Amino acid sequence: MSNFKAVLISRDEDKKQSVEMTEISTDDMMEGDVTVAVEATTVNYKDGLAITGKSPVVRHWPMVPGIDFAGKVLESSNPNFAEGDDVILNGWGVGETHWGAYAERARVNGDWLIKRPDGISAKQAMSIGTAGYTAMLCVMALESHQITPDRGPVIVTGANGGVGSVAISILSKLGYHVIASTGRTDEEAFLKELGAAEIIDRNELSEPGRPMGKERWAGGVDAVGSHTLANVLGQTKYGGAIAACGLAQGFDLPATVMPFILRGVSLLGVDSVQAPKAIREMAWSRLATDLDMGKLESLTTEIGFDDLIGAASDIVEGKIRGRVVAMM
Ligand code: NDP
Repeated sequence: MSNFKAVLISRDEDKKQSVEMTEISTDDMMEGDVTVAVEATTVNYKDGLAITGKSPVVRHWPMVPGIDFAGKVLESSNPNFAEGDDVILNGWGVGETHWGAYAERARVNGDWLIKRPDGISAKQAMSIGTAGYTAMLCVMALESHQITPDRGPVIVTGANGGVGSVAISILSKLGYHVIASTGRTDEEAFLKELGAAEIIDRNELSEPGRPMGKERWAGGVDAVGSHTLANVLGQTKYGGAIAACGLAQGFDLPATVMPFILRGVSLLGVDSVQAPKAIREMAWSRLATDLDMGKLESLTTEIGFDDLIGAASDIVEGKIRGRVVAMM
């Protein structure tokens, strides 16, 4: 038996939530066939919701939050992993129903792990994290719908956020003309450095709009949902497609069918949590080649393990730009 440091979310009899930095015994860990020494983790929007309790992300109590980690295998009875392997985990309910990444140790089902690709360090893997890997899934969804750079501009909403900032970097490297929609227009220089060709104020899209407007973009990555997604769909060019992955404005979709039935626009749903292993591996290998690691560095802020709880609140309040990495 040994103890390790962890963030723990608990609930009292009145279902009042509390969060603390504490020590946990290895004897108390949840079941799994691979034990990992966590080297790096990150703060996603979902981690913010879990720690603040703003949405019912946590479904098992008490919970070690954190949906992403990069680490080294300490022990494994899974045939696909051995001691010393460098691994990444994204999603699979970790940090929601199974103890997660905000700890020095994690014990998980080996089927949830992938080997960390060559050319991506533990820090870079967490700088990418679920947000960046989801951005890649969105780009792959657009590509599978033949939304190539020659079809016209693509829009990225929630541009300063994790998904948005990585999506801009990938799309610009692939040659797309990227329109970044943001509420933080004072970050124009940062967004242009990532590769955005144009910046628009998110207020243009966040209010109830007409079912269809001028055709402005061939495709897009939407991390925002609600009226924003409805307006994005209504301004998509004939035959275009929007990859929808987020709900930063809201989970509603107050849209009409008009863009679908008059312009043949497609809405492509993107989920990272239960995505099959083959698709994850493809996304991570694409990230190793299609994401500029210099730009990744520029959109990353490094924090310490002890700063995780504060950063989780910050992301829910929209105070975080780009991605945050915590090294153990
Ligand atoms: P962040 O908090 O890093 O970014 C969200 C961004 O959305 C903000 O930075 C802000 O960008 C914008 N935003 C925030 N509030 C509003 C609002 N009220 N109206 C319009 N825009 C707003 O989160 P992530 O990038 O990590 O995640 C983005 C979304 O994607 C979240 O909803 C998350 O839950 C979801 N997600 C889904 C996944 C999936 O598997 N489908 C996986 C990962 C994330 P700006 O300041 O530039 O306006």
